[in-house]
Amino acid sequence: MTDEIERAAHAYCPACNPAPGLGEPVTALCGATHPYWGRRERPVNNCPACEAVVAKTVYPCGHTGGGR
Ligand SMILES: [Zn+2]
Ligand SMILES: [Zn+2]
Repeated sequence: MTDEIERAAHAYCPACNPAPGLGEPVTALCGATHPYWGRRERPVNNCPACEAVVAKTVYPCGHTGGGR
């Protein structure tokens, strides 16, 4: 059941992945690729690596986080 945690924990770039289909592999901000199964409003566990990237202004892919 670790898949549930995985998909809830990672964050991904909305610019690189504007509308991923369910089950489509998306690359998280930390670099991990995992199937997308929708957003979680209250993720139980957050990937520390993703959290650190989200806190920054610019993502590794070059897109900016927050605001547009
Ligand atoms: Zn992550
Ligand atoms: Zn991006």
